[in-house]
Amino acid sequence: MESSVYTCAVVPCDSYEDSAAVLARALSAIGGLDFVAPGMRIVIKANLVAPLKPEAAATTHPALVAALTKMLVERGASVTVGDSPGGFFTPAALAANYAATGMTEAEKAGAKLNKNTAYHTAHIEGRAMRELTYTDYLDDCDAIIDFAKLKSHGMVGMSAAVKNMYGVIPGLIKPETHYLYPDVNDFADMLVDINEHFKPRLSLIDAVIGMEGNGPTAGTPRKIGAVIAAKTPYEADAAAARLIGLDPAGVPTLEAARRRGLCSGRIEDVSLYGDVSAIALSDFKTVPRKSISFYKGTLIGKFVEKALVQKPMPKKKKCVACRKCMNICPAKAITMATRGKYTYPHIDRKKCIRCFCCQEFCPKAAMVVHRSPIVRLLQKK
Ligand code: SF4
Ligand code: SF4
Repeated sequence: MESSVYTCAVVPCDSYEDSAAVLARALSAIGGLDFVAPGMRIVIKANLVAPLKPEAAATTHPALVAALTKMLVERGASVTVGDSPGGFFTPAALAANYAATGMTEAEKAGAKLNKNTAYHTAHIEGRAMRELTYTDYLDDCDAIIDFAKLKSHGMVGMSAAVKNMYGVIPGLIKPETHYLYPDVNDFADMLVDINEHFKPRLSLIDAVIGMEGNGPTAGTPRKIGAVIAAKTPYEADAAAARLIGLDPAGVPTLEAARRRGLCSGRIEDVSLYGDVSAIALSDFKTVPRKSISFYKGTLIGKFVEKALVQKPMPKKKKCVACRKCMNICPAKAITMATRGKYTYPHIDRKKCIRCFCCQEFCPKAAMVVHRSPIVRLLQKK
């Protein structure tokens, strides 16, 4: 293998037991960790969206985070692992999250688990965003490595390297930020702003076991069987999109990056190590967003868009009426209603901006991404 020739690597990986060697191979294909000098302070920005066990496949697997930590420590770097999960950003919430997600494995490998819960607002030179509120620990490092999990996502189709950087925003401020960008393309632009501001040195994706369906927290674990390493989040996500059967050109975050000339939106233009098509799944359950935008501007566009749009939908039998969704909803679109023996959320569809925060934060998987029969048919196709 010629190192540094490639800017993105997709290496097959059957299980987390083999993942350390696979990660080393993927990194080596794109030039390894040569940028790491002794004494360098590195933050691994994992996806720790909720205090869920690794088997739930919502968070970056601890075996991979620990393996990366070990490699960085061997090069003399000091490593901090962090994220701002949904909900309260407090030391107690972080401790519970690290214990559940298995990040203590990374601690054993030599990483510090971030306990700093301070944050601040800074001016950034974004196109969609000028004021960004983000977590302070990210300022105490020389480089950020973005380590995402590959999952379906209600609003932007997939959660991978670009979306993972949304976790720089403290948990309870994320819904507010969503509310400022109700249009999916504006939201995607804002995500690109965040990526361009922090410029992760490497973008890695745990796609060994991903999450399909009701992602990014309450979906179904699905074996995808790969580890992705790339120089930029856009290349990593182009490969990730292809792995789960999406056209990269139709993923809103990659479309936003393409509009700025940060990528072409074509996997063929990525200097790629590995054969993505040999691993790619054709039946991964997520929404092919391109099929939605395809009809825009046509006479039947409005009707078709209404029929295709996905929306949050409460499952009254699963709901425990905890009101978390109501309290988190940035559009104040949710009230609780009692019908018969069930009390569950009622959503005012005129107010809802389809940010899916209610679905992401529901502790009982009682709020799901509703897809119309037409969308389900398109997915099958
Ligand atoms: S967060 Fe989930 S369980 Fe709680 S009220 Fe909303 S739908 Fe029901
Ligand atoms: S109802 Fe859910 S999807 Fe709609 S705005 Fe509120 S939190 Fe977002």
